[in-house]
Amino acid sequence: MKNGMGKLVFKFGAMGSSKTAQALMTRYNYEAKGTRVWLVKSSADTRDGADILRSRIGLQANAFVITPGMNVKELYEVQRMDGDSYEVIIADEAQFFTEEQIWQFREIASLYDVTVICYGLRTDFRCQLFPGSKALFMLADDIDEIASVCKCGRKTVVNARIGADGKVMVRGPQVEIGGNDKYESLCWTCWRKALRDNGVDELKGIVG
Ligand SMILES: [Zn+2]
Repeated sequence: MKNGMGKLVFKFGAMGSSKTAQALMTRYNYEAKGTRVWLVKSSADTRDGADILRSRIGLQANAFVITPGMNVKELYEVQRMDGDSYEVIIADEAQFFTEEQIWQFREIASLYDVTVICYGLRTDFRCQLFPGSKALFMLADDIDEIASVCKCGRKTVVNARIGADGKVMVRGPQVEIGGNDKYESLCWTCWRKALRDNGVDELKGIVG
């Protein structure tokens, strides 16, 4: 059944902004109305096991894992031919999708009248867009922020990476799976202060 709402949606937020919990609750609400939902996640995040979406408040579910080389549109089309015609796709960790895969989600949404809702981070620990996030900002019909609050009360905008020495890092790969670094979502002011405390006064040449 078509729901007539096919569109691509990006819901972005900092780490700890309950994106996964919202993804799982959204799926629950759709399924409660009899809507068929395909729950997927990108493969770049393996902290909870390959195919489990786990939220910080305890909700969890199995999700289909999409690796960088997969063609999402072809996967969806194979499922359609097999009779699994999902009306809604909910994707978590969407920042890790390739730009090409977001274009494929765009195609699915429009060609098959499927609502595709992508949850993910806006930027990395250096305030640089992730590939999937960049493509979603380019292509999404709707873009919504899932706001969360910094320890100081301002809105979080930076996913700061904290090194083993407890200091905010400004160098390193965009994706560091399985590393010992921790993350803290901060407002710009607190992030900037933490950088200054770490001896970084000029952003030029550090980020970008
Ligand atoms: Zn702050």
